[in-house]
Order: sequence, then structure tokens, then C-alpha cells
Amino acid sequence: MLNTILDTVKNHNFKNVKRVSKINLEIGELTFINVEQLKFAFEVISKSTICEGAEIEVKFIKPYIVCNHCGYRGELDTVDDVIISCPKCGSPSLKIEGGKEFNIKNITVEFEEE
Ligand SMILES: [Zn+2]
Repeated sequence: MLNTILDTVKNHNFKNVKRVSKINLEIGELTFINVEQLKFAFEVISKSTICEGAEIEVKFIKPYIVCNHCGYRGELDTVDDVIISCPKCGSPSLKIEGGKEFNIKNITVEFEEE
């Protein structure tokens, strides 16, 4: 997952990039990603790459569910548990349409001076 970030940066094939200063991520709440752990792991794997020292900013995406039982569709406000249920009827039979994202929204880079 973290390698995805590094690969994306590499594949962009930026010209004259000195370093990556900031990475904006969008993470679905249902991924249950621990951001502190993610940042720490990123620090480790980005060492001696152009991503070293990059700041990671995370925007969480609320889960979007469709209830198979009552047809409710909408965002879930809180996710305290791995098991989620419909906020309207309580049914655990849901289709999850959002909340599992792991997207790189944008990357800020610093360029070498020519
Ligand atoms: Zn329901």
C-alpha cells in the first residue's frame, strides 16, 4: 500500500524534482488504517528516496452504505466497530459502496532550481 505511493511518485517521472514535500491521501474509514502507523512506516520506506521527509495529510472518507433490508442509503457517521449495521433498521446486511478507498489525491513536489 505504501509502495503504491512511492510507485505513483516514480511513475509520474517528474523532471527536476528535488523532493516530494507533501502527499495528500484520501482514506476510507472502513480500511481501519492507523494513520500514525502509516506515517511511521512511510518514513521508514521513503528513506533515501525523493519522498524522504514528505508530510502526509489524510482526509478520511465516511462509509457509504446501502441497506439490503430497508433500502436506506447514505453515509455512516460513526464507525466504532468492524461490524457495521444500518442506522435506520439495524440490519447488518449492507452493501458498502464507499469507505474502503485508499487514494492519492495529490502530491506536492519541490523542483530543482535550474
Ligand atoms: Zn436498513
